[in-house]
Amino acid sequence: MAESQARLAHHPGRSAGQARSHADDPLAHLIAELQGHGLRVEVPLESRQGGAGPADAGMLWIDGFAATVPTSADYVRASPYVLRAEDEGWGVYRDGERLASAEPFGRPRYYDLTTADGIPYSQIALLHLDSLASTVIQTCAYWGNSDQCAFCGIGVTLANGRTIAKKTPEMLAEVAVAAKELDGAVDATLTTGTTAAPDKGALYVARCGRAVHEASGLPVEVQFEPPRDLAVIDEVHDMGIHSVGIHVETFDPRVLARIAPAKARTGIDGYFRAWERAVAAFGEGQVSTYVILGMGEDPDLTVAGCRRAIDIGVYPFVVPLRPTVGSLMEDMTAPSPEYCETIYRRVVPYLAARGLGARGVAAGCARCQACSAMSLLEGRTENNGRTYLPILTNR
Ligand code: SF4
Repeated sequence: MAESQARLAHHPGRSAGQARSHADDPLAHLIAELQGHGLRVEVPLESRQGGAGPADAGMLWIDGFAATVPTSADYVRASPYVLRAEDEGWGVYRDGERLASAEPFGRPRYYDLTTADGIPYSQIALLHLDSLASTVIQTCAYWGNSDQCAFCGIGVTLANGRTIAKKTPEMLAEVAVAAKELDGAVDATLTTGTTAAPDKGALYVARCGRAVHEASGLPVEVQFEPPRDLAVIDEVHDMGIHSVGIHVETFDPRVLARIAPAKARTGIDGYFRAWERAVAAFGEGQVSTYVILGMGEDPDLTVAGCRRAIDIGVYPFVVPLRPTVGSLMEDMTAPSPEYCETIYRRVVPYLAARGLGARGVAAGCARCQACSAMSLLEGRTENNGRTYLPILTNR
């Protein structure tokens, strides 16, 4: 049996969204803590470093639940949490007390393959736990100038030679088939740097997504900036894409102007217009946005923005900042776990009451959920058919 199949057998119902429906609050709390303080590791984990958006994380399963946690940033050295080898497997410990079992994410088998012209598959797309992920155009019109998003590391991986600048649909299709067959990938998440074209790169990333889906059958999320002509969003849908991520990053306009000046020019209302068009095409819950915590935002504006997005059928994927080495925010630290949990607990019940949840998302970051503890707090449907919501707090 392939290593990946063995791991699948370890994690029945391995779709993170499904598995997380049975999580309880202590595990949600632990994962929020780990995502805030980080996890000290005695051996290096497979990790994501650089890339578009907020990055830098080690990948592992904690009590069977997918999670990405900081492992290499400087501030992690002060974390009270450590990953330790045990006689059989691994555990997460704090002050000598074992808190959870852990399974580090192993090196995918397909990483050993290369294309006919010699490009390693791992330079085309990576496996993030069970999601195939690629930045199809690894350059951005904003990188290196005053418009660069402060949290982003898209130029970092290109500069250190870990990826190639442009992936073709054919390359991605070839890698997707291998990732599914050899390593059990369940979906594909494709993002792109913003291009100078009016569609901002949306049509190219969608063409890549179409090729991936047609070759492998995997559901696909593509991520892009709001295009100038919103009819482009309909074209993306018509290419057979399942979900889209259009990321406003923060609902605090003051912070948006400081950390993502180009996105600020689109404006928060500009994102809402794009989301409305996308929800009409893709359906409620298939449109998501990153909402990054820890950049100095007003918590009330953040919660209000998330709820306004939820009202129109958008899934706000709330995540803590992961300061990326090489980004403009590399010297920052992640926000406190208490703060993140407070925001999750004000957003998640609203999502659940609206009938939205990670389980309904076809593909992408909001399906995977490993970068946030929010879906661990989603309501559970018990044997009596009633749904129990997490406690709402107003702290
Ligand atoms: S738009 Fe911002 S987050 Fe996206 S790739 Fe460009 S700089 Fe990075």
